[in-house]
Amino acid sequence: MARIARIQTPTGPAFGLIQDEVVYALPGDPFAGPLQPGERLGHVDSLRLLPPVQPSKIVCVGRNYAAHAAEHSAPVPEEPMLFLKPPSALIGPGDPILIPQGIGQVEYEAELAVIIGRQASRVNQSAALDYVLGYTCANDVSARDLQRKDNQWGRAKGFDTFCPLGPWIVTDLDPRNLEVGCRVNGEQRQRARTSEMVFDVPALIAFISRVMTLLPGDVILTGTPSGVGPLTDGDTVEVEIEGVGVLRNPVRNGPAWAE
Ligand code: ZN
Repeated sequence: MARIARIQTPTGPAFGLIQDEVVYALPGDPFAGPLQPGERLGHVDSLRLLPPVQPSKIVCVGRNYAAHAAEHSAPVPEEPMLFLKPPSALIGPGDPILIPQGIGQVEYEAELAVIIGRQASRVNQSAALDYVLGYTCANDVSARDLQRKDNQWGRAKGFDTFCPLGPWIVTDLDPRNLEVGCRVNGEQRQRARTSEMVFDVPALIAFISRVMTLLPGDVILTGTPSGVGPLTDGDTVEVEIEGVGVLRNPVRNGPAWAE
């Protein structure tokens, strides 16, 4: 099991390997392996962590927990329901989520994020986990009123800062029975296990890779459990995944929607 982060260095973003809270340079790229620590870069708390990957796409799955579908009075889909978030929505741990003013309610969605490790096209469920580099925490921030109004989700899910990801990638984790939780200002709002997913991670990779080729660094957001709710200026929202860690972001008012 390894922990891979992307950090800001004086010469630009770089991958690092975290061992005992110390970050070491990761020569080359984590997708090519092997994961050998290089020079010591510093204590993890002293470095700025970036979103751990720069994906070509972020593929998301709607209504993948029955209890969440029920809280929106929506049926559980018969096949995975896919949508995309733009990579420009990504922010790292500690970066503020900016709520555009005048667009109605904006909500958190705690989700297990799958980081693809190698190119995957039409892979079988039985081999699907071989294509995974690791897992991290994601917050699928969603403008709920716009989601209802627009009837498709490109705008509601696509604002800048609406995809906090991190704090790091953990490899060699079994994704099938992990606790997923969300806290706002320290108060527990969501708590479920990935075993409650309608479509599990191997099924999602097999399904998605029949639609689009997944590339190294691509991200799959696997859906949110029940308990979603609003975020407002001044909040601190935390997504915690068992075996991964905590993704913490402050919430701030952003620019007005209308001029
Ligand atoms: Zn979601």
